[in-house]
Amino acid sequence: MCPPLGMLLAVRHNLSIIRQSQRVRFDFHPVGQWLSKGHLSRCQQLSTPSWKDRGEEAMAEKELESAIENYILVDVGANLTNKKFARDLDAVVQRAKDAGVQKIMVTGTSIHGSKEALRLTRLYPGTLYSTAGVHPHDAKSWTDDTLQELKDLLSNPECVAVGECGLDFNRNFSPPEVQLEAFEKQVSLACEIRKPLFLHEREAHEDLIRILEKYRERLPPTIVHCFTGSKAEALRYLDMGFYLGLTGYLWKDKSEDGVRKLLEDGVLPVDRILVETDAPFMYPNTRASKLPAHIKKALTSRSQSFLHRYCTFQRNEPCSLPVTVEMIAAYLGKSPEDFTLSTTYNALKVFGLSS
Ligand SMILES: [Zn+2]
Repeated sequence: MCPPLGMLLAVRHNLSIIRQSQRVRFDFHPVGQWLSKGHLSRCQQLSTPSWKDRGEEAMAEKELESAIENYILVDVGANLTNKKFARDLDAVVQRAKDAGVQKIMVTGTSIHGSKEALRLTRLYPGTLYSTAGVHPHDAKSWTDDTLQELKDLLSNPECVAVGECGLDFNRNFSPPEVQLEAFEKQVSLACEIRKPLFLHEREAHEDLIRILEKYRERLPPTIVHCFTGSKAEALRYLDMGFYLGLTGYLWKDKSEDGVRKLLEDGVLPVDRILVETDAPFMYPNTRASKLPAHIKKALTSRSQSFLHRYCTFQRNEPCSLPVTVEMIAAYLGKSPEDFTLSTTYNALKVFGLSS
């Protein structure tokens, strides 16, 4: 309904107008349609003209401002089908929305997992989306039916990408030749159905590129998820037109040639960066001593409170995404607001999401 970029720009643009207005009605505001329903109804209740008490009025305005000032983020990869979320998924999704994570792509890593991810999208329409794919670890489970099962899953509009698929020669949970075969079939499928490709790669950069090169002319938008590679690898992916998914891994990257350095040197263009939590993995440890002081200083107390109250090394949640976004923005030397606008726009564009 609403053009994504126009909507996002409207958020920031109208913020200054709203600040000047004493009696703006939230339900007239275009952003109202995009924010979480909880926030919206709370703001609507508070913005009815029946206020008697001026203190209440001031509080309502503060709430209205914070609802609009909150980030608008898309977590492009969260493993919400993981059994660690089985008992309190409602709370996990609500916390994400309260933190400003408005949309979450639930990663599918097997046929069973991809079906489960699609089922979750039905429980949280407009908030959760899914991917369908066979992870390299699961490549050994590929059968004659797998391709058709993936096609069926991907025929649903909520299922927005092919993956997570790729190559992982670090752990080799499936034999390399089996991984290569399953991967190429999924690349070919993504080209055929024109849905984005969500890639996993570990210690398999050359082989991954070799297969993707064969399809170069036909590739849909392609995301290298949880990128942790080197500058040379990043440049190769960027040259292929790919997007890089960055996670909370950033806190422990101490490589002279890694993601931090790429951000500081301006090697990664902002229009190619997507953000993801990879929850329940990749907890961003903002208290780590190796995280530079100026980066720590750039983290807001609001974002850190979501991280410290709800996330642990054992179970990271999508509500930690604002902290990761603030880390990335600080390394880029940009404001988190500006970076958020760009990366959210990238996500909406890549996955073809509207309001
Ligand atoms: Zn992965």
